[in-house]
Order: sequence, then structure tokens, then C-alpha cells
Amino acid sequence: MGTSAPRLDILAPLSGWLVPLDSVPDPVFAGKMVGDGISLDPTSGSLLAPVGGVVSNLHPAHHALTITTAEGVEVMVHVGIDTVMLKGEGFFPLIEQGQQVSAGQPVIDFDLDLVGRKAASLLTQIIITNGETVARMQPATGMVDAGKNVVLSLQLANGKDVLQAVVGEPQLSADITIGNPAGLHARPAAVFASKAKSFGSDIQLLLDGNEANAKSVVAIMGLSTKFGDKVRIRAQGDDAAAAIAELTQLLNDRCGEKADEAPLAPAAAPASAQQQDSDTQLAGVGASPGIAIGRIVHHRLQEFDVPEQGKGANVEQQAFARATEEAAAQLDLVKAQLTDPAKQAILSMHQELLQDPDLLAQTYTGLADGKSAAWSWRAAFSAYSARLEAQDNALLRERANDIRDVGRRVLALLAGVKQASLELPAGSILIAEDLAPSDTASLDPSKVMGFCTRTGGATSHVAILARSLGIPAICGISQSALKLPEGLQVILNGNEGTLAIAPTAEDLAAAEQEIARLAERRASEAKSSMQPAATSDGVRIDVVANIRNAADAREAVAKGAEGVGLLRSEFLFDNRDTAPTEQEQAAEYCAVAEALGKDRPLVVRTLDVGGDKPLSYLPLPKEDNPFLGLRGIRVSLDRPDLLRTQLRAILQAAPLTKLHIMFPMVASLEELRAAKAILAEEQAAAGVTDVKVGIMVEVPSAAVLAARFAPEVDFFSIGTNDLTQYVLAMDRGHPQLAKQADALHPAVLAMIALTCEGARAHGKWVGVCGGLASDERAAPLLVGIGVTELSASTPAVASVKATLSRWSLDECQQLAKDVLALSTATDVRHYLNQHAR
Ligand code: PEP
Ligand code: MG
Repeated sequence: MGTSAPRLDILAPLSGWLVPLDSVPDPVFAGKMVGDGISLDPTSGSLLAPVGGVVSNLHPAHHALTITTAEGVEVMVHVGIDTVMLKGEGFFPLIEQGQQVSAGQPVIDFDLDLVGRKAASLLTQIIITNGETVARMQPATGMVDAGKNVVLSLQLANGKDVLQAVVGEPQLSADITIGNPAGLHARPAAVFASKAKSFGSDIQLLLDGNEANAKSVVAIMGLSTKFGDKVRIRAQGDDAAAAIAELTQLLNDRCGEKADEAPLAPAAAPASAQQQDSDTQLAGVGASPGIAIGRIVHHRLQEFDVPEQGKGANVEQQAFARATEEAAAQLDLVKAQLTDPAKQAILSMHQELLQDPDLLAQTYTGLADGKSAAWSWRAAFSAYSARLEAQDNALLRERANDIRDVGRRVLALLAGVKQASLELPAGSILIAEDLAPSDTASLDPSKVMGFCTRTGGATSHVAILARSLGIPAICGISQSALKLPEGLQVILNGNEGTLAIAPTAEDLAAAEQEIARLAERRASEAKSSMQPAATSDGVRIDVVANIRNAADAREAVAKGAEGVGLLRSEFLFDNRDTAPTEQEQAAEYCAVAEALGKDRPLVVRTLDVGGDKPLSYLPLPKEDNPFLGLRGIRVSLDRPDLLRTQLRAILQAAPLTKLHIMFPMVASLEELRAAKAILAEEQAAAGVTDVKVGIMVEVPSAAVLAARFAPEVDFFSIGTNDLTQYVLAMDRGHPQLAKQADALHPAVLAMIALTCEGARAHGKWVGVCGGLASDERAAPLLVGIGVTELSASTPAVASVKATLSRWSLDECQQLAKDVLALSTATDVRHYLNQHAR
């Protein structure tokens, strides 16, 4: 038999839709004063025994009964709310008190119509009235069939195991630090809520005096937790202790989120210069790259006429249950047509929202007040989406769109309006105020050439989906796009974030040519990607790759990378609770080195954490201004033990490759000297001499003083992502500043030029490993300024190499001279576009 506690399954006594008990519009049931369990919105009128046992109580009004099982568990079924007032009218008992019944046996018939009309609600509660017999309760969700599906799965307490916790005494966890880089955003919140729902206890998540229902995704997101926040869990009920233990563990495990899965700043969005509207073009933010020609098709969100007054709580409840059920089925259908698990996950989250206890509770409150289901539901989801929209976390703001999306789906069903489907003619350019993520997911890339939305940013699900579908897209387009005539032929440029609205025949021909040229070019670049990178007059430039691990290294080499210019070592060891040992680290560095071999360079950057890069095993203190706080080398010098371990591990890879060690975020010579002193000691101890040492140039002070750093380093590598942020004082993850935080800003280029000058005077080389190195248009400019190594993202390696082969060094230098004289990022982009080859 083993020692596991016995289980008891409670069958659905009626067919219908399950509803969490705390959303029942009756404080006695919702407050679990009778006991814990579940509620069901019935569609059948013959009540079946949910368990076998003795009918220990049959209410004289025949609307409720209790069955006591052989294990001593008392299961009460209470049909409807306030049905006691009917004094038995419409109820026909088929059994007597004291009678033995078996599970599934019909016990009470009732007139569904009559009871529905006369009672406040038909919601039927299935409750365990002696909770002390139960150690754990797992409620089901969704639609159930009477006598067939389980509604509650119980793990029974065996005597001494009976809950020590007294129901009514809340229990509190210790502080738990949120380790999710982007806080509890949609996905981890959904995982957490779903786990919380498996407990019968009332559970709240507490943060700084605010609390959220732990079973509600929208409530958890509304708490707006951030990486490093300290939260607590409060639980009250039979299984409170287990709930706290398991949910604490879940939070410590970051709700299953790997660090590199967490959505971070909108770095993936293409940088586009700030464009202006004119008579012939409208401008927004490039959300997904590429050029498309097509005809405008407007997608307008329908307005729903929703009556405030309901037709009775019961009728409205049933309508609501049908609508949410249908919405879930529709989402299943859309999901089944998708192959990308990331897109499916977005729709699963929408399904989770359909069962969110806070959204449901607020809706049911409206119903209990006599409002219609549509009115109550709209009020509920609008309030929650508005709450998310007011958050200072861009990711959570974007999720407001998901709530509206699923909200409108149910609303359309309640209003009996068929939502205009997104079946578009071939060659469409879609224009919408807002595109629902579920609509975007189902777009057919063979018909939709591109789309523009008024709202949304680079982190929106709409933008992410567009990039994964490979559809050029613009977000944040001006209002006037919504008024463009249907069928108008336009050119959408997702690289620039522009929509040409009055293209001439020449413009169209040029765009067509450009589309064809790009397709052809990509194909031919791929063919020559293994050639050594050089200018047309044979000057060698190293085109290498940015990587995170050995698998990336292998892929990079296969795609033509001539080495690695940046191994972001922090990614190798994220997602763990303790610092990796020297041997664990060495194994990883050696694997990368082996993938490259002895003839290719490997630049390993020491741990670069802080700012936008948290590290799970190294909780850093919360800072008001983390980008100006303990970051990069500052952390390593603060924790020399970690730095020493890492350096010893890196040095083990020296015999396998051309090893370079690079320190990140260096702002002063003292920092460089301190780090080098530690490295020298470790090198001496390990007997390794052949290692090059360099710094990242990401802080303006390092660029300005490059000539003074140069004698003390072997190389520089410019991190244009951070350098841009620090030169322009613009947060690299700020969605509204995405257009302006442009690495081609003349001030950033001037810093690059200063670095090259300083390095040249001492015969040292300069590379670029920030995002600018992946921009093929910038490649000849950087080489002209004096950069001799470009460390690009692997997919960009072939195009950067091919571009360089079209320019001689003289031409690159002339280009640099011209560009360095320009005054704005827009001018620079324009110039580079005009001179692109
Ligand atoms: C940079 O800042 O440009 C860089 C390459 O470093 P990271 O993006 O990892 O901060
Ligand atoms: Mg950086």
C-alpha cells in the first residue's frame, strides 16, 4: 500500500462550467465559511451523488444535501444561491436522509428553468464541510459532464496528518527575493497563479504593503514586482503550510523561467532614425525589419453596444459561462493552427485569463448587482487593463493589450457580434489602431505583406510576433494612417519605420527592385560567407561573432564568423542558485575554445552583471539607479573571490585557442589596474603567459581617455549599446526613447573616433561588439574610422563580410570623413543609406 495518503475524487454532480468558490456572489460561500470546495454553473437539472456514502443530511427545502463517505469526508452540494427561499418548489428528491448512495446515482431532480427564474443564481456549490479530513484539495477547471468528470481531487489527511494549522489563522512565509529578471510578468505570473490554484487555501502575494490574490494572473501582474523585490506569501486554510512551502520554492525557481528566456529591453527591435510625417510618408517605430509593397486594408476594432441592465443574474451567468467556454474553444482552434510554441504560449495565457478568479469575481459582483454579463465583464477587464497600463514596467504595460484582446473576444460572443476575421486578400498592408496578439498570431504571411499599428512598442507581443513571422511592421504610426483610403497602394519600410503613402510609379519600381535585390543579395551573401573578410583592396578586417555558449560558437563558425569578439560569460552561468565552481566554468570556456580551435580568436568578457543584467546566484542590492550603480567590473572588484575563480577558469582555455580577456564597463584606469593586478597573480599561479588583455569601451570616460588606457591594454572593444546609453543619457531599454537612442548619433561616432585615435597612437587595435557592428550599412564607416574587428550577431556575419568586400579602405576613410562632419543621427542614416552598396 505504501505510505501515500489516500485520495478521494469528487465527481461533477451536474454538467456545467466550473467556477472558483471565491467568485460566488454570496459572502458565506465565497468566504468559505461553510467550507472549501468549488462552484459549478449548471446546464443539467438532475443532481447526481458526487461520491458514494450515506446521505447524512437532506435539507427540508430539498435544495441541498450532504453525503458522508466511508472515509468520513462530508461532501455538501448546495444547488443555487438563496434557493432555500423556494421552500422546495421545483425540487424533487429521489433519496431519503440516511440512505446509502453510490457515486453518480441521481439524488435530486430540479426544474432548471423554474429554479433559474426564481433564485438569485443557479451556481451550485460542492463543499467539503469537514476540511480537517483533507490534507490537500485540487480543484478542476472548465466544462464538466455530470457523473463523468472529477471536480475536486482530495488527498485525505490520515489522522495525525490532519492539518495542524487552524483554519482561520493565516500563515506567512519568510521574505522571498524575486529572481525573474523582468519580475513576475505574464508568463511567470501565470505559472505561479496556476500552482496557487491547486491549493484550497486562500493565498495572497504581498509586496510593500500591497497584496494580490495569488490565484489571479492579473492581480499578480498588477503588483508590478521587479527583480530583487522581496515578497511574502500569506495563506489561510487547510493546506496553507504546503501552499507556502511549494509556492516559495516555485518563486525561488523563478517560476521555471530561465534567465535568457526573460524578455528584456527591446534590443531586438531594429534601430530606426527618427522620421517625420510629411505629405508623402507617415512615420513610426520600425517594429519588424523589411520592405513591403501592398494595398491598405483597415482593421477596425468593433464597438459593442452593451446594455447595462441584465436579464437576471441567472440568465446572465449562463450567458457568461457559454461565452467564456466558446472563447476558450476559439483559442484552442487558433492554437491548433500554429506551430510556433512561443505563439501558442501567448494564447494559452489568454485562456488562463478566461479563468482568472479576480476577473471572474469582479464580473460576478456586477451580475449580483443586476448588471448584464457583457457590462460586468467589460467593466472588469477594462479596470484590470487600465491598471496594467499605469505600471512603470513596459512589459506589464504591453500585457494590458492581451487582457483587452481576450476581453473583447468574450464581449463579442456576449454581444452576438461576429468579430471581423482577419482573412485578408493577398498583397495586404494592414492598418489598425491596435492589433490583438491573437490576430497577429493568425496572420498569413503569404497574404499580409506588412502592418502598421497606432499603438504598441518594441516589447509588445504584436512586435515580437511580427518579427517571428518575418512580416515587416511599424508600431506607433501617426493617427492619420487610420484615415488612409482602403486599397491605397503603399510602401512599408520596417527598417526605417516609414510608410510611403503616395508612392510614384518610380518609387514602386524602386521598392520592388529593392525587395528583389535584397532577396538575391541575402542568397549570394550566404554563398560567400566562408571567404575571409577583407575590403575590396584586400585589407583584412576580422568579422567575428557575439556568442553566449559553445553551441553559439559552433553555429557562428558554420555561418562564417572568424572567431568570437564577445563571449558574454554571464549567460553561461545564469539560472542557478550558487556560483559555478572553477571546474564547471573551465569546462564551459574550454568547450567554446575547442569549438573555435587554435587559429581563431576568443574574447571572453568577465562577468558583466548589474543594470539590465541580473544574475541569479549573485543577488545585488536594490539600487535607485542601477545603470549608474554596481555594474560590470565594479561588481568583480567588489567580489574579487568571484573574479579570481572566473579568471582561473578562463586561463584553462588558453592552450586551446587565441585567448583574450576583456573587462566590461571600465570607467577609470584604477579599475583596469586593479583587475589586471588580480589577473597577473592568477596568470603567474597558472603559468599562463599568452593572453591578451583588453577593455570594453562603454563609458564615455574610457573613450575620452583611450590614449591613456592604450599603453596598458592590448585591445579595445566598443560596446555601442551601453556607450550610446551613457553618451546620450537615454536608457537602452526605454521604449519611448528607442528611436532616439541611436548608435549612429554623431556624438557616439565621435567617441568611437576618439577611441581609435588613442589606440592607434600606441599600436593597439579597436573592435566594435555592440549592436552597431551587426549593421551592414555601418560597417564601412566603422572601418573608415579605424575599427579593425567587427563582432556581429551570427545572422549578420555574412552581410557584414559581403558589404566590406564592396569598399576599398580609401573609400571607407572618405565615407568616415564625410559622416563625422554630420550633425544628427538622421543625417548620418540618410547619408549611409544613400551611399549603401
Ligand atoms: C554593449 O554594451 O554594446 C555590449 C556589447 O555589451 P552588452 O550589450 O552585453 O551590455
Ligand atoms: Mg554593455
